[in-house]
Amino acid sequence: MAHTPRKRFGQNFLIDDQVINQIISTIAPKSDDSIVEIGPGKGALTFPLAEYLNNLNVIEIDRDLISILSSQNNTKITIFNADALEFNFNHFSKKIRIVGNLPYNISSPLLFHLLNYRENIIDMTFMLQKEVVERIVAPPGNKTYGRLSVVIQAFFDTELMFIVPKESFNPQPKIESAILYLKTKSRPLVQDLKPLEEIVKLAFSQRRKTLKNCLKSVLDQSQTNIDLSQRAEMLSLDNFVTLMNDYEKQYRN
Ligand code: SAM
Repeated sequence: MAHTPRKRFGQNFLIDDQVINQIISTIAPKSDDSIVEIGPGKGALTFPLAEYLNNLNVIEIDRDLISILSSQNNTKITIFNADALEFNFNHFSKKIRIVGNLPYNISSPLLFHLLNYRENIIDMTFMLQKEVVERIVAPPGNKTYGRLSVVIQAFFDTELMFIVPKESFNPQPKIESAILYLKTKSRPLVQDLKPLEEIVKLAFSQRRKTLKNCLKSVLDQSQTNIDLSQRAEMLSLDNFVTLMNDYEKQYRN
């Protein structure tokens, strides 16, 4: 069945068996795992992965690709024709493991959507733009350390597993990709996502300015022990938790 790749759905299909095997080794699937694949496409990862599993759930937005997937009549695969950005990941009865070669144009909003389901997620193995993976795993002080790094690292242990070259896809993307592994922390650094998101967004709103400047509408130096003459990129995750608690104290009641 012919299918013309759709740019608006971020369709770059994997054509490299070695990379597919490496992704499966990273996932290390066990037969009774409850795995959800986002964006199965034509099934490059789906069919080899299903070999290891009793059942595999997949979420795909493009109806034409669903026809291709279902034409294989693989009874292990349950297909959801849905937008992953709106999908309710609490749908499954067991804790899930999520995998996918993600559409790059929605990777950040998708990660933020998935954060809402973190208590139901064991881990996630994703292919993303290399640059986005580097931002997610960046330590404090690094020039790529930012909003995404702090918010994701508060809830997940993160690891860049390996780089994937452009040649592993058809059509070829313009940039390199990388495999990111996210393991849900058994003890997240904070309970609530919202206040952390708010303070982190403000703190990084003007990277070149000090925290004093970025946070002036919500917090001043007399209300926190964190030195506000620093820039946000110097703050550790624990510092951000302190800052969030001090911020919340002002707005509770
Ligand atoms: N997994 C396949 C592979 O590796 O060859 C395809 C990967 S391709 C980069 C991204 C896939 O995500 C496409 O199949 C695309 O149609 C699908 N997709 C795009 N946006 C989506 C969305 N919002 N929800 C679910 N699937 C989506």
